[in-house]
Amino acid sequence: MPHSCPRGAPLPRYRSGEKGVIETMQATGSRERTFADESARLASLYASGILDTAPDPAFDAITRLAAEYFHADTAMIGFADETRFWVKSHWGDAIREQPREGSIFERVLLQDGPVEIADAGHEGPPFQGRSREAIFVAGVPVRCTERQILGTLAIFCREARGPLSPDELATLENLAEMAAAQLELQRLRRVMARHPARRSADRSEPAQKNGWPGSSELRRALERREFVLYYQPEVDLVTRKIIGLEALIRWRHPQRGLVPPMDFIPAAEESGMILPIGDWGLAEACNQIQLWREEDPRHGSLRVCVNLSARQFMREGLADHVESLLQKSGTSSRQLELEMTESSLIPNMQTALEVLGGLHTLGISLTMDDFGTGYSSLSNLHSFPFDVLKIDRSFVGRMGDGDQALQIVRTIIELARVLGMDVVAEGIETRDQYRLLRQMGCRYGQGYLFAKPLPPEDITRLLRLPGRILPDPEALYSAGEAAMA
Ligand code: C2E
Ligand code: MG
Ligand code: MG
Repeated sequence: MPHSCPRGAPLPRYRSGEKGVIETMQATGSRERTFADESARLASLYASGILDTAPDPAFDAITRLAAEYFHADTAMIGFADETRFWVKSHWGDAIREQPREGSIFERVLLQDGPVEIADAGHEGPPFQGRSREAIFVAGVPVRCTERQILGTLAIFCREARGPLSPDELATLENLAEMAAAQLELQRLRRVMARHPARRSADRSEPAQKNGWPGSSELRRALERREFVLYYQPEVDLVTRKIIGLEALIRWRHPQRGLVPPMDFIPAAEESGMILPIGDWGLAEACNQIQLWREEDPRHGSLRVCVNLSARQFMREGLADHVESLLQKSGTSSRQLELEMTESSLIPNMQTALEVLGGLHTLGISLTMDDFGTGYSSLSNLHSFPFDVLKIDRSFVGRMGDGDQALQIVRTIIELARVLGMDVVAEGIETRDQYRLLRQMGCRYGQGYLFAKPLPPEDITRLLRLPGRILPDPEALYSAGEAAMA
């Protein structure tokens, strides 16, 4: 068993106050850890800020998943400083702190990798609480981005069981990666919160403050067919093929011109007018899907993505309504994608869960929009059947500003990979952002670099490009630059 740690295996001890080596008792084949290692590890731990945080539901989601997957009695995620092991989630138990000495964390740290203990019952006191009665324990490292071990994800079984299979071990390690990604996300969000300037600047100002538009104006606009859907291409970042389109509503106002959604959607949500407007948008998108399909049957592989707001979820029978729309227009559910932000799920998680389950059963893809701006993102991702994660454009827009935003994007891409979800980067405006995203393995993206949201007739022209492949922005710009020279 390659990762096993036999009973009585060496445990690290510090020689306090002394420089140099953390001694290992019975140093049988184990690696020595230096104080330099430990100080780097502690520096990363403190930088993560994890010791100051309250228990996070995102970690509960991971320990619950681990306990269920391995039929374990409990699972635990914790992070250790010099002496204490700070438990951030102990599924089914309320322990919050343990001595670090003799803990599973020390085993994992010493091993610099996964550890399995098959006869933990003979180990004496190290595994506290309910896990004390554990016979089988397996722990894997939770590492920071610099790869130092900050903590452990461990499972505890009160019944004897065989060693973890390679697949099981990989699953446990994936779960630990999720914990690490969540940790990183929390850290970066805190950093971003301290530097909010760009984020607020690049959002359009929300709803007008003078009470405009009222619900009667919105109703009239609907009757007079003043709302229109624009579409923005979503592209495969490697091939530049248009794989989908996001429908984005605009109001063609007779006096005010083309009004952007952030100027009337909040008012429509408040007044409830978002329900008929949303219905119109869904029906319109379904009809448009059919028109493009009639133009070329190969467009049957396009997915059109419609934004939903919180109010639309809270309505009984949304899935039935969408199903009847699909039937009426003859659209396949595979061509429809519904997109929502995390905050729209929060007001009534139970209803949202049911509604999303119903939509998913119909075969509709579900996208979490503006990812990274919410709070307990990971626990929501676990609970809801999302297929796609959209990286909020504030992160993409700040990638060039330094490491933090770059890290957050990297973390979200990694999170999506671990969760088996597709990832779309929003708001790609520059060739540098495009290149960085491709380098980081981000598969899909949308943004002004490729195309702005456009009326359907302009999209039809883009869809006629051979293979639906958009021109290479690199080549376009280089050609432009060459012409200027
Ligand atoms: P969203 O769903 O996150 O949509 C993406 C927004 O980013 C769109 O703004 C799009 O035009 C903009 N965008 C795309 N690429 C770039 C880029 O490269 N740079 C910049 N700076 N912006 C880019 P838009 O169309 O103004 O929509 C704003 C928000 O309004 C949407 O955000 C969505 O939350 C909401 N919305 C739009 N249409 C609908 C709708 O039909 N129903 C509902 N409920 N909400 C909608
Ligand atoms: Mg969207
Ligand atoms: Mg978005």
